[in-house]
Amino acid sequence: MFTSISGRSVLVTGGTKGIGKGLAAGFAAEGAKVMIVGRDRDAGEHAEAELAAAGGGPVFFQQGDVSSAESCAAVVAAAEERHGGLDIVCCNAGIFPAAPLAEMTPDQLDEVLGVNLKGTFFIVQAALPALKRSGRGRVIVTSSITGPITGFSGWTHYGASKAGQLGFIRSAALELARSGVTVNAIMPGNIMTEGLAAMGEEYLSGMTSAIPLRRLGTVDEIGHTALFLATDEAAYITGQTIVVDGGQVLPESPEALG
Ligand code: NAP
Repeated sequence: MFTSISGRSVLVTGGTKGIGKGLAAGFAAEGAKVMIVGRDRDAGEHAEAELAAAGGGPVFFQQGDVSSAESCAAVVAAAEERHGGLDIVCCNAGIFPAAPLAEMTPDQLDEVLGVNLKGTFFIVQAALPALKRSGRGRVIVTSSITGPITGFSGWTHYGASKAGQLGFIRSAALELARSGVTVNAIMPGNIMTEGLAAMGEEYLSGMTSAIPLRRLGTVDEIGHTALFLATDEAAYITGQTIVVDGGQVLPESPEALG
């Protein structure tokens, strides 16, 4: 249906678990060359083996920390060297530790903004020259419904980081438009991942009952959305967002869920 993206070079931050691993699996299944990035080497090597075993395009793990500009530069250099360029960057690495506003320390605030928001800046800045050379560069940011649309107690810093990513994409899309690089964001609702599972059963069942489709999303469903944004056919979409949440932001009241 769409022009093949086989052979394109893809970098997925936070590609060793959860949504990022789903993104990597989707791109590899289409024959793209994928580099996944995370801090934990064991988890990264495990994910690399699992994704490689599924077939498709090659998948490699590169250790890196998106909260460090130097590390982002090294990761991008490794992807360019291994794949001969870089076409698609998925800014997906993220953390969501809870901290009530009244107790949040400056360090806790810095950590969440440093990984989720500054990490998005650092990886895109590092990738800019390669994306411009690509001629069909793509930046795909994993934001969230939490922050831009909804709120959740304990996540003021997280929500601000995710809303900040949307401020980032709109101006970055303008700066990169002349180079044919598009910059878009996916806003997932509640997607079943290692990180979400750690929130506990009560959180998961409460969320499921608040979702009109009555189930959590899958990482593949975010992967399919990213694949679409990466296609040549999506070249005219930039600075935009796609909510993938099973309808979670729609109900005005619990009664509206039916
Ligand atoms: P996850 O299962 O906890 O996975 C997070 C990934 O990010 C891991 O690969 C982790 O690897 C990596 N990571 C964390 N900090 C990093 C850093 N400083 N540098 C490089 N990699 C780092 O989380 P997830 O649920 O898949 O979430 C992924 C993204 O989706 C996040 O941006 C999150 O905000 C967003 N999101 C998730 C949901 C959801 O329902 N799951 C909903 C909305 C938005 P290491 O720990 O080894 O570094």
